Amino acid sequence: MPLAEALREAARRLKTVGIESGRADAELLVAHLVATDRGGEVSRGEVMAGAAAGTLDTPKGFDQIVAARASRVPLQHLTGRAYFRNLTLHVGPGVFIPRPETEVLIDHVNAHLRRRAHENEAAGRDRLVAVDLATGSGALALSMSQENPGCEVYGVELSRSAAEWATRNTELTGLPVSILVQDATRALPGWEGRVDVVVSNPPYIPTTAVPKDPEVADHDPSMALYGGSEDGLAIPKDIAQRASELVRPGGLFVMEHAEVQAEAAARMFSKLGFHEVETIHDLTGRPRATKGYSGV
Ligand code: GLN
Repeated sequence: MPLAEALREAARRLKTVGIESGRADAELLVAHLVATDRGGEVSRGEVMAGAAAGTLDTPKGFDQIVAARASRVPLQHLTGRAYFRNLTLHVGPGVFIPRPETEVLIDHVNAHLRRRAHENEAAGRDRLVAVDLATGSGALALSMSQENPGCEVYGVELSRSAAEWATRNTELTGLPVSILVQDATRALPGWEGRVDVVVSNPPYIPTTAVPKDPEVADHDPSMALYGGSEDGLAIPKDIAQRASELVRPGGLFVMEHAEVQAEAAARMFSKLGFHEVETIHDLTGRPRATKGYSGV
């Protein structure tokens, strides 16, 4: 079957099972199969052009991979890749797929680290330390390192399988990040008051709320999703507590949460002694993270 027709049919099939991005997913699956076959990278644009011009054949295995996607296996598990800021991360079963809304946390981290770097320069100091508590695939830790060269970065992860993905991503990117298999709520003993930035995208879904997308409910590790209490904030609270201990005076803590948790998160930050507590909105204007500075 010509590629253009195979793509139309796949898009229809995926839309029927509720995957709104069916057409894009089908094109990305073709790109993945062609790249695997040829070696190297193939963009979605090349697939679209090849389908339109009739210069690209429908790859072998397309039907099977579309069937897997139709059964709601996440696109990122099928391609093995997730994109986060400037990174191409390797992902699969056993690790949380990084989300675009988490990317915005890095803007706040970068602003703070750049300010600190200037202050350090003036004071003749050169060490900057950043920590990602519950790093999963390593997305936030690796981005902090990539976008702040010279910063010492630690990614803490309790799940062994997730830490393996993070370690693999660290090796593949060649970024100088240390992945530590530790409980984020007790991480980095001895580092109290010495960290410039702590960032976290913790598990925060209320235990009673099951995510509606099967890609999330059935394929993201539940350990990365559920916050351990009815309001979803038990684990985030323990992580925030540890962050308050690790962060140096004047240091920054940024944490993602659900939209409905914004007020509770702001109260939690203030209670833990963070100052200038501020809600961060995602690109669609929803209150999805909170930041605060440790008292000087
Ligand atoms: N953001 C997740 C989701 O979309 C929830 C858990 C998390 O990010 N830590 O399902």
